Formats: sequence, structure tokens, C-alpha cells
Amino acid sequence: MNIVLLGPPGAGKGTQARILVERDGMVQLSTGDMLRSAVAAETEIGKQVKAVMESGGLVTDEIVVGIISDRIEQPDFKGNVIFDGFPRTLAQADAFGELLAKKGMALDAVIEMRCDDEKLVERVTGRFTCHTCGEGYHTSFKKPKVEGVCDKCGGTEFTHRHDDNADAMRSRLLAYYKETSPLVGYYHAKDTLALVDGTAEIDEVTAQIAEALN
Ligand code: AMP
Repeated sequence: MNIVLLGPPGAGKGTQARILVERDGMVQLSTGDMLRSAVAAETEIGKQVKAVMESGGLVTDEIVVGIISDRIEQPDFKGNVIFDGFPRTLAQADAFGELLAKKGMALDAVIEMRCDDEKLVERVTGRFTCHTCGEGYHTSFKKPKVEGVCDKCGGTEFTHRHDDNADAMRSRLLAYYKETSPLVGYYHAKDTLALVDGTAEIDEVTAQIAEALN
């Protein structure tokens, strides 16, 4: 099964993708994570995308489709993937459909995670992750049980994303509504769309996704 998690920044796509990976053994492909790794490793692509990512704008379709096609076109690509943060434009969605079709694969479901903007800003500006295992935390809603120590792996280094600030968040939300939200209609027309309430508690959202996938 291949699924897309569609939703604005802070809707919980990464959190739910991690749960699906742990529970169902799916593979998470996050274009945001791949691009952040490229920036950290100072690759050619990383250098090209650093500024636009920090400001909250979208990276070009050419670059993003390129990194996704590099994965999908690998001979050992078997699917069973949760696409987190991809596609984000209609052009990406078209290219994505073609890449999957070439592999004889389909997109089984697109889960739209809907959430109100106020909640998104609150979630995003307070979140941080364990540098070692990637577990997500929040300064108000989910602090580590022991301050400064990751509940999952005992790591003591945490990272806060450069673009998780109020200014970049405004641009990211605008990019979502302008470029990405048309995908709701696109996938509705293709009969693959399911809606979940992204404002609900994590477990409740997980349950809604499970129901949508059944
Ligand atoms: P994310 O981790 O999904 O919030 O992505 C972080 C940033 O990476 C975004 O604000 C964009 O600058 C860039 N990015 C990630 N995925 C895409 C995509 N599919 N298309 C364009 N830009 C992307």
C-alpha cells in the first residue's frame, strides 16, 4: 500500500507517519527530511534549497520530483510507503502518478489531515525533536518525562527546526493554501481522498487513519 499524508505544517503528518512505520512496518519518505539532510550535508541541492526552506517557501518541482524519482526508480523500491510532505503541487502530483504507474504501482489513499491555523502555529513554534532518534516533543503538550532526556532513546541532544518560527510559518501556511490545498480536489476527483480531524489527540487521529485505510 502507498499512501500520502496531506496537510499543512503542524497537522501531525510526521507523527502519524512514524506511528505507521512502527506499527505496520511501512517506509516513511519525507521530502522535508530528505531536503534537510541535503542542507546539513552541504550537497549541491542542499546549497540550492537552504534559503527557500528557511523562509518557508517551496522548493522547485524539478528538485523535489528529482529526489523522489531517484527513490522510486531504484530497482529495489517495493512500495509500502507513506509519502509525508509530497506531493505539494499539482505538477508534483501528476509527475508522482506517472512515476508510480511506470513501476506498476498505485497510490492507494490520500489522507487529508485538517487542522485550524491557530493550533498549527501553536504546535509548530513549540516543537522540538530528539537529535538521536527523531522522537517529537512540544514545550507545552509533550515534554520529555525527565527534562532534557529523550523518553525513547535516552538521548540528551534536541533540535528545533529553523523554519519552525512565526515568520516562516506564515509563508509555509500561505504556500500550503496556495499550492498544496488544490490537491484536495485533485485526489477527491481520483476517489482516493479521506479526511481526518488533525486537531484530535494523536491516538484518535491514528484510529481515524486506520479506519480510512480499511
Ligand atoms: P516539511 O518538513 O514537509 O515541513 O518541509 C520543510 C520544507 O521543505 C518546506 O517548507 C519546503 O521548503 C521544502 N519541501 C518539502 N517537501 C516539499 C515539496 N514536496 N515541494 C516543495 N518543497 C518542499
